[in-house]
Amino acid sequence: MKVPPRIKLAHLPTPVEEMPRLSAALGGPRLLVKRDDQTGLAFGGNKTRKLEFLLAEAALHSAKTLITAGAIQSNHCRQTAAAARKAGLDCILVLSGEPPQVPEANTYLDVLLGAELVWTSLEQRGEILNQTYLKAEAAGREPFLIPYGGSSPVGAAGYAEAIRELIEQGIAADWIVFATSSGGTQAGLVAGKAMYGFSGQVLGISIDEEAGQFNAVIAKLAKDVTYLYENVKNITIDDILVNADYLGGGYAVMGASEKEAISLFARHEALLLDPVYTGRAAAGLIDLIRMRFFGPDETVLFWHTGGQPALFAEKYMRIALA
Ligand SMILES: *Cc1c(COP(=O)(O)O)cnc(C)c1O
Repeated sequence: MKVPPRIKLAHLPTPVEEMPRLSAALGGPRLLVKRDDQTGLAFGGNKTRKLEFLLAEAALHSAKTLITAGAIQSNHCRQTAAAARKAGLDCILVLSGEPPQVPEANTYLDVLLGAELVWTSLEQRGEILNQTYLKAEAAGREPFLIPYGGSSPVGAAGYAEAIRELIEQGIAADWIVFATSSGGTQAGLVAGKAMYGFSGQVLGISIDEEAGQFNAVIAKLAKDVTYLYENVKNITIDDILVNADYLGGGYAVMGASEKEAISLFARHEALLLDPVYTGRAAAGLIDLIRMRFFGPDETVLFWHTGGQPALFAEKYMRIALA
């Protein structure tokens, strides 16, 4: 097996903690949490693990400027801006949304990290990203495109290695539950499960995609990770578990169930979830526990993927405080 090249960005291993008070409050199974909100790079999150591999790839291309794209409160963009700085590179972010008068939360951090911001509508994002890349190239800035959400096979390798880390921590869980959106985290976890022999089930709570075609995309990405390792596993759509029952009001819309999940985790475990990803995934987890989806003797590990800076965006604060 050939682990792809990697640079060091994250504080690893991230801790695994028990959540006894939350479990008792819900009358649920044993609950654990894997603290990837504590990866240590500029408020952390799941993108740090992917960027360890993506920056090694960028170095092989002698990149001088990282370019990526995301939504206005993108954690991926904030983490890419931070990783660029650690590697001595420039960073250009193509952000979809209205340019704010005062950048807040993640966008504020993007500015502090010295990222150059290019604003676009969601419809034009791909085209503007392309133009931004060509312009940087023409200016001799040696750009390197970090894929959306860091979800190429190289980026997803970060989560195959995260499974190895979990096994080395001696953690046995029947279920891993987490937020899935661009699919790289899930693809890496599934590839890691196949390559390193993890017995628990990997269940993604979808943030913004219907199941179906999404599962096929993740299966292909997971298989591509195993190609990268030269340890090919026959991963098919049947290996991809996605629950898409919790899409709520759509991407980045915080509703009553996200609000409740954020409140329950905070009050019972002093754990802070984010309004877009982990709040929604935890709302799904809570609902599944209430429906008795998990057996009483099972252990369920919630993989915290970060994202807390978005809590401080005014629109989410207003909802959380209402
Ligand atoms: C990006 C992100 C996710 C989703 O990860 P994917 O690999 O894109 O599926 C989950 N949680 C947080 C906080 C994120 O920023």
